[in-house]
Amino acid sequence: MPLDPYSIREDFPLLKNRKVIYFDNAATSQKPRQVIEAIKNFYEQFNANIHRGLHRLSEEASEAYENAHEVVAKFIGAKSYEEIIFVRNTTEALNIVAYAIGLYDLNEGDEIIVTIMEHHSNLLPWYVIAKLRKAKLKIIGLTSDYKLNYEELENTISEKTRVIAVTHMSNVLGTINDVKRIAKLAHEVGAIIVVDGAQSVPHMPVNVSHLDIDFLAFSGHKMLGPTGIGVLYGRKDFLVDLKPILYGGDMIKAVNFNGKSINIKLNDLPWKFEAGSPNIVGAIGLSEAINYLNKIGMENVRAYEESFTRYMLRRIDEELKDYVNIYGPRDVNEKGGIISFNVMNYHPHVIATMLDKYNIAVRSGFHCAQPLHQYLGITQGSVRASLYIYNVREEIDYFIEVLKKIIKELKE
Ligand code: PLP
Repeated sequence: MPLDPYSIREDFPLLKNRKVIYFDNAATSQKPRQVIEAIKNFYEQFNANIHRGLHRLSEEASEAYENAHEVVAKFIGAKSYEEIIFVRNTTEALNIVAYAIGLYDLNEGDEIIVTIMEHHSNLLPWYVIAKLRKAKLKIIGLTSDYKLNYEELENTISEKTRVIAVTHMSNVLGTINDVKRIAKLAHEVGAIIVVDGAQSVPHMPVNVSHLDIDFLAFSGHKMLGPTGIGVLYGRKDFLVDLKPILYGGDMIKAVNFNGKSINIKLNDLPWKFEAGSPNIVGAIGLSEAINYLNKIGMENVRAYEESFTRYMLRRIDEELKDYVNIYGPRDVNEKGGIISFNVMNYHPHVIATMLDKYNIAVRSGFHCAQPLHQYLGITQGSVRASLYIYNVREEIDYFIEVLKKIIKELKE
């Protein structure tokens, strides 16, 4: 086995404290004690605001916060900490890019390309900005095996394309998109590629330099870190010229008043995009989460989840095929550990509630991807089981047995 999920589980207090089979990892992950302790340690030992005080506590807090930028930069293969902007979450990161590019650089007739598998976070900001700037929003569909239709994408890209915003891994289908290929297509016409890495960064190696992407957004809470901290990676060449959309403290070097008016000098990267007091402890918690993942190795995380997903798909196919309809590619080389499905014609909330009675936590509904469900003709939403490094085979075995029981109950 590429990793030992049984010893990993020992690090997660909640998994010991609660009797739960936690299959809702795409929504948020559980936290290891190392992250919890790093947060506690910050508040107990060096809590202060950063960059402001000349006192020692502030210096220590600033150092830890700045170090977190370095840890993240290294983790995703960024060239420098200057390319790492801490935000609240993926949603905020994507809104910042959409507004910063949209307000200053998009014009009437420009085109933005997204895909039908986007989470609302990577769809709605572009929809709003396209309306504001009278740009066109083009939406690429899927093939019959739940993969992105690259042919349609190639036919849609043109000299008018300014932005391609695409998810790296679908939070419903688990489909992994070939963002390196899409980046090449974008760059050929001088467009920018923005990647939603909310589901990929926690589960597989992601290297922005190898992928040659311009922006990447992801959330700490889905990768063992705390809530309220997320990352916007931006290629330095773009960030240098990009204007912030949030103004105030810390993002400014000087604000000069000449008696009548003011003029301003923006701060250096990445601080010019981090207005106000940031989530210092969140950044420290996230960097501890990354240290934890680095110790396991992201290649191992991916390999484990691949084999685990294969096992779950096989069990459902062999034993429940007549009752369970799975949405997503079957080829685990191109799929993450996300399995969305419906049971007969039952509402997904019914199934999720029944699973919960057996202490199995899954998500049900549209998973913030309502257009995708509509596109697939799924009217009521779906049930989603999503896996992580601390899930074990016995949990899948139990899940399959419980599903069988539920189906039997529903049929009676
Ligand atoms: N994008 C994808 C693919 C997601 O799965 C999610 C979260 O579910 C998001 C964006 C939004 O993440 P957050 O709620 O942390 O902003």
